[in-house]
Amino acid sequence: MPNSDAALPQAEKPQAEKIYLPKSSESETLQKIRHTASHVMAMAVQKLFPKAQVTIGPSIENGFYYDFDSPEPFTEKDLKAIKKEMIKIINRKLPVIREEVSREEAKRRIEAIAEPYKLEILEGLEAPITLYHLGDQWWDLCAGPHVESTAELNPEAIALESLAGAYWRGDETKAQLQRIYGTAWETPEQLAEYQRRKEEAMRRDHRKIGKELGLFIFADVVGPGLPLWTPKGTVLRSTLEDFLKKEQVKRGYLPVVTPHISRVELFKQSGHWQKYKEDMFPMMAESEADRLLEQGFVMKPMNCPFHIQIYKSSLRSYRELPMRLAEFGTVYRYEQSGELGGLTRVRGFTVDDSHLFVTPEQLDDEFMSVVDLTLTVFKSLQLKNFRARLSFRDPTSDKYIGTDETWDKAEGAIRRAVEKLGMDHFEGIGEAAFYGPKLDFIFQDALDREWQLGTVQVDYILPERFDLEYVADDGTRKRPVMLHRAPFGSLERLVGILIEEYVGDFPLWLAPIQVRLLPVTEEVLPFVTQVVEQMRSLNIRAEVDGSGERLGKMIRNAEKEKIPVMAVVGVKEMEANTLNIRTRASGELGAIPVANVIERVTEAIAQYTSF
Ligand SMILES: [Zn+2]
Ligand SMILES: [Zn+2]
Repeated sequence: MPNSDAALPQAEKPQAEKIYLPKSSESETLQKIRHTASHVMAMAVQKLFPKAQVTIGPSIENGFYYDFDSPEPFTEKDLKAIKKEMIKIINRKLPVIREEVSREEAKRRIEAIAEPYKLEILEGLEAPITLYHLGDQWWDLCAGPHVESTAELNPEAIALESLAGAYWRGDETKAQLQRIYGTAWETPEQLAEYQRRKEEAMRRDHRKIGKELGLFIFADVVGPGLPLWTPKGTVLRSTLEDFLKKEQVKRGYLPVVTPHISRVELFKQSGHWQKYKEDMFPMMAESEADRLLEQGFVMKPMNCPFHIQIYKSSLRSYRELPMRLAEFGTVYRYEQSGELGGLTRVRGFTVDDSHLFVTPEQLDDEFMSVVDLTLTVFKSLQLKNFRARLSFRDPTSDKYIGTDETWDKAEGAIRRAVEKLGMDHFEGIGEAAFYGPKLDFIFQDALDREWQLGTVQVDYILPERFDLEYVADDGTRKRPVMLHRAPFGSLERLVGILIEEYVGDFPLWLAPIQVRLLPVTEEVLPFVTQVVEQMRSLNIRAEVDGSGERLGKMIRNAEKEKIPVMAVVGVKEMEANTLNIRTRASGELGAIPVANVIERVTEAIAQYTSF
């Protein structure tokens, strides 16, 4: 089988030297280029479409856009013509001239060219009113900044990207406009790199791959941000869960299960209701009177207060500590619907949550062992590119609960652990949870985008609020410290990130289907069925392609579904008790005895490697 390029792990591909792409917000040069390019584009549009009216045209994160009111609908072909016209304007080396005018003068000039949108824009502007001219050819109201001449723009570093509909002032009741998106960079190399990353992001998009591989769906009638996991996606999730549960058993965690809703009172005691209400689903009250009294039930946004109740259910002795309660707990948060995208931002998600109740003396060791567990998890998932963020409180903000002293203590514990472990880290001031500082693991993906994965938090405050105690060895009552930790973070987000990182090519241990047997003729069906049964009895996720298609088609399907191991079986293989193996990781391996295949697959799964 010719091994497709997509199957190669990223590291095996030749790495070109990395081109740094500055963000608009951090480069004034880029802002100037993009602003000017947008004016040049608007001038080109009005040259080609004299009836088009100009509205707004800002510079944005990766480029710029302009909105036009034009009686003619723009087409993709028009974009080419507009770009050509832009090149002509750039080559004329028009100076970009700033002119400050009075409001009356601005109004007079706008009326002279009959552009009513500009009048409305003018009304919203504060002095000084500035116009920017491209030579004596064209002008628009703008605050800048711009380059000094169109000659400073490189036509080969500019691209017109797409067309979209828009409304004047973003208001559906107002005029419908046509938006042209463009991008502009300092050099053609930057533009090429930007376009490469955009394409790569599309190729890796977990929403697209998730659909192709049949891992999850969204349904309008269920609601935005609420994924439904199909059988294959569920296998993937459960495999991740089982993996972590196994690691947790080794480390003395105790499993618990808690409900999805509770009295609002629980979250008043924890402080979530006061600090976090806006992010929770609205309260369910049985009557209007209850609603007014704030008596009712809420969907849980966090698991901590439930685990605290289990801790509190009896008087604990120091002999029971550290007590590590663990649950794959599904929580619900009311994200704005505009912010929802695939699995990376959802309204219901499962946290691999655990709460450790420890004595102050146990804190440092427990913290380190949690960090160690997190690193083990990342290693097994082959996630290498991450840094640790010390997420501390912003001392000037009032969104935190607890005293300065407890915060200093908790932040100190995190700092000590990170320094002792010699971890690559940075500080994120203002990134703490409202009840305590965190150590967050920030993962950088193949496109230099950053995602928060695991988290460990030190908390002196909830034990205080819930009046938690234990009996110390001297018989006195003492207060435990709590650690909140989740190496995966959210299972939903983790799966989204893994899909993009692997481009759908899951390592053998995670693949929903690990082995597919492709029978070349009906004659071998009893044999392949027996092999599949044998594999399944050893916990290998194997299946038979029973489609009756020709071999070429069966292979193509298995490739499309990114199944790690394909086993072709004809009469020859059946008689020799072998399987003809092709894997995504290693290509064609030829005929291998069945027992040997099973052994190697089992071994690869156990070692989190590929076959
Ligand atoms: Zn401008
Ligand atoms: Zn917690």
